[in-house]
Amino acid sequence: MQLTKEKIIQDFKMQLHEDFMIKNDEATADERFIALAKQIKCYVMPDWLRHRAEIVKEQKKTAYYFSIEFLPGKMLQTNLLNLGIYDLVQEALSELGVDLMDLVEAERDMALGNGGLGRLASCFMDSLPTIGAPGFGNGIRYKYGLFKQKIVNGYQVELPDAWLSSDGNVWETKKPHAAVDVKIYGNVYLVPQENGDLKPVYENVKTLHAVPYDITQIGFNNDVVNNLRLWDVEIPEKYELDYPTLADRRRIEDITSVLYPDDATREGQSLRLIQEYFMVSAGLQTIVTSYAKMGLPMAQIHEKVAVHINDTHPAMAVPELMRILIDDYNLEWEVAWATTTKVMSYTNHTVLSEALEKWDAGLFKEIVPRIYQIVGEIDRQFVKTWAGKVDASVIDHTRVIQNGQIHMANLSIIGGHSVNGVAKLHTELLIEDVLKDFYLLYPEKFNNKTNGIAQRRWSQIANPGMSALLDKQIGKGWRSNVHELSKLEEFLDDAAVQHDFYQVKQANKQRLADFVKKTQGIDLPIHAIFDVQVKRLHAYKRQLLNVMHIIKLYQDLKDDPTLEITPRVFFFGAKAAPGYHFAKSVIKIINELANLINQDESLRDQLKVVFLENYNVSLAELIVPAADVSEQISTAGKEASGTSNMKFMLNGAITLATLDGANIEIKDAVGEDNIVIFGMDKDAVYDHYARHDYNSRHIYETNPRLKRVVDAFTDGTIPNTQYEGYEIWDALISYNDEYFLLEDFDDYVAKQAYISELYKDKNTWQSKAMKNIANSGRFSSDDTIELYAREIWGIL
Ligand SMILES: *Cc1c(COP(=O)(O)O)cnc(C)c1O
Repeated sequence: MQLTKEKIIQDFKMQLHEDFMIKNDEATADERFIALAKQIKCYVMPDWLRHRAEIVKEQKKTAYYFSIEFLPGKMLQTNLLNLGIYDLVQEALSELGVDLMDLVEAERDMALGNGGLGRLASCFMDSLPTIGAPGFGNGIRYKYGLFKQKIVNGYQVELPDAWLSSDGNVWETKKPHAAVDVKIYGNVYLVPQENGDLKPVYENVKTLHAVPYDITQIGFNNDVVNNLRLWDVEIPEKYELDYPTLADRRRIEDITSVLYPDDATREGQSLRLIQEYFMVSAGLQTIVTSYAKMGLPMAQIHEKVAVHINDTHPAMAVPELMRILIDDYNLEWEVAWATTTKVMSYTNHTVLSEALEKWDAGLFKEIVPRIYQIVGEIDRQFVKTWAGKVDASVIDHTRVIQNGQIHMANLSIIGGHSVNGVAKLHTELLIEDVLKDFYLLYPEKFNNKTNGIAQRRWSQIANPGMSALLDKQIGKGWRSNVHELSKLEEFLDDAAVQHDFYQVKQANKQRLADFVKKTQGIDLPIHAIFDVQVKRLHAYKRQLLNVMHIIKLYQDLKDDPTLEITPRVFFFGAKAAPGYHFAKSVIKIINELANLINQDESLRDQLKVVFLENYNVSLAELIVPAADVSEQISTAGKEASGTSNMKFMLNGAITLATLDGANIEIKDAVGEDNIVIFGMDKDAVYDHYARHDYNSRHIYETNPRLKRVVDAFTDGTIPNTQYEGYEIWDALISYNDEYFLLEDFDDYVAKQAYISELYKDKNTWQSKAMKNIANSGRFSSDDTIELYAREIWGIL
């Protein structure tokens, strides 16, 4: 794009006049942010229109990524960077006496996701246009994003995240003319037509008006612009009489009101099911209509359209596409099925059985009666196809409807041509264990696509200090080709370079320490190891193991007041699902332990604990560059991939990890000397499952050092946590420690001690950190999405 500083200044002033009737020096940061964002939209528009016209004209096959969550965070810096005008705009603003960072500050985080799943979707939205692939997002425009977390008396309190201003979101464009109707509830009858076909007739349905909001997704330095389409619900004028009272209207508006605040367990509420159908139906109707305009046979839609089911929430895409093809376009079942299965593909994100989505068939039938009929037929056809060919037990375990429940993963697998896991180990586990019966039926569908991260956000935007240093050391090529980070390998033993990286890290730690001082009033020593665990709070992620190690250090220091340890600051950032009792108790424990430790002067600043409130993408951008140690300590086999592990690696933290998810691939990338591994591997965990021989009480009773740590939860060591302490003690001892914290404890403590020793040797430490940066290129979501594009969707 050809832009000059003068033009940017002129446009910026003009935009302020137009929107706010105001001069720059009178404008607030909010107003300036909005003006700049609108200006960017104008700059992007020609590329967007041209790119879309090209896709239509060349009839390019397009992938649609259906996801109930997107977690982009802020967009201003990414958009400036990808347009190649970051520095220019920064300079232009500074001529006007405006600091770009104040505008960045003014933007609200777009948090339409819970954690890793939604963040991955957003990394893909950044990478798809960057690799020049026609790939569009499809989701829901929630009025309230993931709850805002406040800590009050150590407890998590959830507040609504009203992220939309009264004018909406500045990056979006409402498209009322592209609205579609979605039908739910009512009765459906199949009525024979003159030609013998059965046609559905609907009675007493509720009609929802789905209105799209489009957000442009800008490729990095390549003039490619894709689209993220988020759907909002409205009540159509012609059906207003169906919703006569205010309460009726509110019930409809609720459909796009809030994101479900939990990505691991299902609350089974009908609203969620309506949300899922709403977004799937609106998206697919639009896709099929635009395909129909090409004038190609409907039976070949798979040649131009790929639909991706990101986790099971959009699984109704399978029966919905069948419905459209059969009911609206009169395709025969077999023909519709053949093309539908070629259109659909599915990513599995979890092996936790409680997170495998199932719906009560009765509820399903009530809310989406026609879809229920089609799912029933899919189930019958499936059973018919496999009967006599495989064991009846295999069919029983894989069919869609079992014991009055609809299994959404089964629907996604049967109804598509590809099933992928998100890290090598995870895909292996799907094949060997979780989905092994499906692997018997469809081995060819299974493949792995290890997750990746949008490297530009997690380096160039989040860590400008390191980026400048990389430019100096290895040239600027890495900014567009992250594989060039490997050039850093040459300097691993260069003491001067090591020192420079150390300086950058210390500056980032200072930036975080200043934030903590400002927000919580705690002074942090930046010569300490910054040891970080930030992610959703979940038992399997084992924040509690981290806590147990902190308790041990605390007890050691109290036992011997002269003891010298390598100083540590432990950081936690984590939201707990509002209904997840245990997770909330862990938050309370962390906060009370932090109070206890931070106020104890006898510890002489050797130990600090910080709980960072309201962990989100923007906070992650502050925290990740400041980490020395990245805690990735889930029970082996439980974390599908993890992506924060990749962000930390890219920013030169040393990973302390179990052999779980993508940690294994990080180890392969950096070599075992440059990562610290502890604990049981997946086989050891599965051996316990097979033998039923795990006995946490035995470990507790035979390991006095560990026993003292566990007893600290109930013996009054941590103030104000009597109730929570007992709950945790019970989970660990009475309920046999489901996630094996006790068995892994000793090795974890030993490896933490090793880290403390290692950190004393700054050169060696820094060399290992640089080794991590140098090998992080392989975790770029640009590469990941290229594999999806080629191997699953066939769009490149
Ligand atoms: C990357 C990221 C996650 C995922 O973290 P994991 O440790 O991989 O679970 C969650 N939330 C936010 C805000 C993130 O940026």
